[in-house]
Amino acid sequence: MKITRRLLPVLGDQLSFNLASLQGLDTKSDTVLLAEVMEEASHVPHHPQKITLIFSAMRHFAEALRQRGVQVQYVTLDDPENTGSLPSELRRWQAVMQPDEIHITECGDWRLEQSLKDCGLEIQWHCDSRFLCTRTEFSSWAKGKKQLRMEFFYREMRRKSTLLLNGDGSPVGGAWNFDAENRKALPKNLKPPAPARFTPDAITQDVLALVAKHFTRHYGALDTFDYPVTHADAKALWDYFLDWGLAAFGDYQDAMASEEPFLFHARISAALNIGLLDLRQLCSDVESAYWSGSVALNAAEGFIRQLIGWREYVRGVYWLKMPEYADGNEFSNTRSLPEFYWTGQTKMNCMRQAINQSLQHAYAHHIQRLMVTGNFALLAGIAPSQLCEWYLAIYMDAFDWVELPNTLGMVMHADGGYMGSKPYCASGQYIKRMSDYCRGCAYKVSESTTDDACPFNALYWHFLMRHSDRLRSNHRMGMLYKNLDRMPESKQQALWQRGQQLLAKLDHGESF
Ligand code: SF4
Repeated sequence: MKITRRLLPVLGDQLSFNLASLQGLDTKSDTVLLAEVMEEASHVPHHPQKITLIFSAMRHFAEALRQRGVQVQYVTLDDPENTGSLPSELRRWQAVMQPDEIHITECGDWRLEQSLKDCGLEIQWHCDSRFLCTRTEFSSWAKGKKQLRMEFFYREMRRKSTLLLNGDGSPVGGAWNFDAENRKALPKNLKPPAPARFTPDAITQDVLALVAKHFTRHYGALDTFDYPVTHADAKALWDYFLDWGLAAFGDYQDAMASEEPFLFHARISAALNIGLLDLRQLCSDVESAYWSGSVALNAAEGFIRQLIGWREYVRGVYWLKMPEYADGNEFSNTRSLPEFYWTGQTKMNCMRQAINQSLQHAYAHHIQRLMVTGNFALLAGIAPSQLCEWYLAIYMDAFDWVELPNTLGMVMHADGGYMGSKPYCASGQYIKRMSDYCRGCAYKVSESTTDDACPFNALYWHFLMRHSDRLRSNHRMGMLYKNLDRMPESKQQALWQRGQQLLAKLDHGESF
């Protein structure tokens, strides 16, 4: 006799009640399967808080499904019969339950989706309708384009979603993008709201103990875990941001400040990426906040652009270009990721701040990732695969579809400019302008070639010099090369030498 008609495996980043493969769920004859597996938790050394978030949210989701009358089969990490991988768990439960059908919503990771497709079972796949743009729609949009520009894709998504449009289809405010208004440094007297914190309940406490026991070699603090693990708490985090963060988010979204890890950022990306929040609801809430007059257009548009522009765009690029995309290495970088990325032990205050808060909270905002830790890796010629692994491991919101294009494409320009028209390289002057980090640094941001000079400065010019053949002809880099060419030969040599010294230190495993 059949135990179950349909087996419905749900992955750790698919914790949405409206998940495509759960539509039409029959509580009498269908079974939802959730499994905590070692392979997914450790194929890179994921931050212990990220593992905690996913396992705890999975357990809460299973409980919420049971309360709705759904039959749930849940496999904990320490279940003696747990086989350790999703394909093998799927085969095991297929043999036990002998369902007529297996339904899965498409994955967020090419590696995992491939392994499930290769596991020898017949699976009915469902499009992930939690995104605005399907994989097929994106590839139709990309067809025939040599380079993909987010801005044009974003306009398509604005039209499709009708967000922030006038009645005639034109953008509210007369422009599609107000990013130029969103780059203000933080005024000294402006205090960000205290971050919303969520005390771990009994389920989360159990998971914290499990993670502490099994993942001792993974980097990152566990005792600071305060993240929402249920839909209700994720909504509370979101509501808190709407009340206290969104109005200032636009102006100061690129700003950075010492000992202020969150500023006016929503910190909802992890909750959204695992399915505790709904994209369309978030966009609708932000648009309503604008129409009600409680936030300015640059804040509302900036936030919506992150969601339906950037987020959907990187997912589209990922599925369009995988698996070759992961091998991109435009600058042929081979240098190892410095040890201080895992420990925070560096005298560069900006790097120490960004890395330490990442270890403490599994979080850093986009400019800390792009213009501090990412910028350093770009300038220092770090192998893109090593930086990608670090980002995937360390950030709570990092899943392969979102991490890889952001890191390999935007941060490292390793896809040869497919995503970004120029590398996001910057000297210490950018960090000085956007933060207070330089004031508390052992290095002098005003110096470039002395022993106490900001390492970003010489590395920046060294990067431009060593990739001159490739980058000089890029019209967006023209001004930078004009500045370089205007320097006396002796200054150029001094910058090159200082850059060489710093890179040699990295090659010898030394921190600075
Ligand atoms: Fe970073 Fe340079 Fe500023 Fe120090 S001086 S905080 S290394 S940018």
